[in-house]
Amino acid sequence: MELKEQIEKLFSLQKIDTQIFKLQNKILQLQSDSEAIRKHKILKEKKEKINEELEPYKKEIKNMQYELQKYQQKQKEVEDKLFSGTIADSKELQNLQREREQYASLQKKLEDKILKIMLGTNDIENERLKIEDEIKNIEAIIKKEQESHESEIESIKKEISKLQEKRQTNRNEIDPQILQIYDDLYNRKDGLVITEVNDGFCGGCSIAVPLATFEKAKEGEEIVYCEVCKRLLYFNEKI
Ligand SMILES: [Zn+2]
Repeated sequence: MELKEQIEKLFSLQKIDTQIFKLQNKILQLQSDSEAIRKHKILKEKKEKINEELEPYKKEIKNMQYELQKYQQKQKEVEDKLFSGTIADSKELQNLQREREQYASLQKKLEDKILKIMLGTNDIENERLKIEDEIKNIEAIIKKEQESHESEIESIKKEISKLQEKRQTNRNEIDPQILQIYDDLYNRKDGLVITEVNDGFCGGCSIAVPLATFEKAKEGEEIVYCEVCKRLLYFNEKI
């Protein structure tokens, strides 16, 4: 195969590699955190903070409810005695009556305290509910997003694997020595080794190529480099 054709093949290889690189980047983009995921994280943190804020109040209420139950139990015991019909002594009955009232009053005080705390934390509690709603909504969005991303990634992967087959066929047709030049430069030139020079400018560094260099690239009888960025120059006869 003459050199001109080899350079043409090399340019095709470049196009395939660039395409594969772009598709791989697309996958990375799809796999990275979306706006919804970022928002979800922030909401989760907010919810965590609110829970921490509410925690001591909840603990306090729980303790008081426990106390309340104790008083209820004690009041019931007193009432059982009081209404059992077995106590005839009026002094004792009066005492029991007083005891019953004390327990009732203690309960009332506790209930008032609990209510006060609940009212005081009402705003925070509402905020928590609002955030929980938002979290649910955003989780639905994320789920949909991930499903569509998964199918998109799947089809990109298929496309990449087709391109890789094409790439291998292409490489097999290129002279190993020329391929070596390409492979050596590939990473150093950020994946752009050979570029079109049809408009007289190097596609790699955008600098005007001297006329003599341009003519040589057009002839295609030798490998021509850009004098500035050292990339290979290709004159595309097909356009
Ligand atoms: Zn250049």
